[in-house]
Amino acid sequence: GRVDNPYAGAKVYVNPEWSAKAAAEPGGSRIAGQPTGVWLDRTAAIAGANGSMGLRAHLDEALRQKGAGELVVQLVIYNLPGRDCAALASNGELGPTEIDKYKTQYIDPIAAILADPKYAGLRIVNTVEIDSLPNLVTNVTPRPTATPNCDTMKANGNYIKGVGYALNKLGALPGVYNYVDAGHHGWLGWDDNFGASAELFKQAATAEGSSLAKVHGFIVNTANYSALKEDHFTIDDSVNGTSVRQSKWVDWNRYTDELSYAQAMRAKLVSLGFDSGLGMLIDTSRNGWGGTARPTAPGARTSVDTYVDGGRYDRRIHLGNWCNQSGAGLGERPRSAPAAGIDAYVWMKPPGESDGSSKAIPNDEGKGFDRMCDPTYTGNPRNNNNMSGALANAPVSGHWFSAQFQELMKNAHPAL
Ligand code: BGC
Repeated sequence: GRVDNPYAGAKVYVNPEWSAKAAAEPGGSRIAGQPTGVWLDRTAAIAGANGSMGLRAHLDEALRQKGAGELVVQLVIYNLPGRDCAALASNGELGPTEIDKYKTQYIDPIAAILADPKYAGLRIVNTVEIDSLPNLVTNVTPRPTATPNCDTMKANGNYIKGVGYALNKLGALPGVYNYVDAGHHGWLGWDDNFGASAELFKQAATAEGSSLAKVHGFIVNTANYSALKEDHFTIDDSVNGTSVRQSKWVDWNRYTDELSYAQAMRAKLVSLGFDSGLGMLIDTSRNGWGGTARPTAPGARTSVDTYVDGGRYDRRIHLGNWCNQSGAGLGERPRSAPAAGIDAYVWMKPPGESDGSSKAIPNDEGKGFDRMCDPTYTGNPRNNNNMSGALANAPVSGHWFSAQFQELMKNAHPAL
């Protein structure tokens, strides 16, 4: 049977392909032994795209790493029809209507492999469809942030159906632990997004024959940069009688960081009927914000803006920036049960893999060019028309980006 926290007392699978790339970087051996997510980001990834390891090869290697103990394998289920509807960098291979292909050519083959009795002793953590459901709340008409593709995916229901199908099919296997993506505080932490997103997660978790029991937990901050815990200000602080919620940075959000957001989202989901033992994962791969620019004290109490901006670890230009963020560092090393309600800190996004290309680069992976990855871009309503804050010279999403890897190590917090 399933245990309450699959990470407790278990090792976590080290992806040899990521590990080799990390180890080949100067200084990379310091982190090459860390576990990272295995992204099944297209149908071909199941068998192994372009000569890389497929799912069976990873699971066979996982059995080897496991030995006599327990081992968690972290998979990212990431191939919805009309994927990445509010951005272009990870659009993927399936068009908006290709839900049947998603089911029969993607989810079913994954389920068939995971059902092989030889893998029954592995704890399979499935993180389900990053950056999908929240788009149906925040990036649809009549919001100013709406995109035509997100309107389409809301209208045709294929994100909901795809997530429901994946949860039901994969969650039927005894060794599988499903964690649904729940965005991050800088996306869903506003009152008009928070509750509506939780309701939508419930709708998806009960679609296509699935039930709430098929959801073991949720993951937040996947491949994002939101700080784990801001120590120099809290949401309840005020300066000269003005709440920090009125600062430009917080902008009426209810949360200042991922730990408080994850715990609050967990409570909200339990109140809606999800299991009271629900566990959260926080992706800390790139939210360290260390290095010499890291503030060591609260900002000046001149105004809420000087106070927040002087003290915050997260040094993005705007919370809505998501692509290859300049100044970012590795965050907390992966570990089990770090805080109440949190099953683990994980590195689901493999550090050093790009979020998207800085210019258009032809490719056969369905990866578009999103100007949020262009350092000269001045923004759109989703980042309140700010500069993108992206590093230059990035390759297409998922490809190795050495300069970013080096910067992440340099700005690691805790330091390496
Ligand atoms: C890309 C995937 C990649 C993943 C992990 C995503 O943004 O679209 O292809 O596997 O990041 O790096």
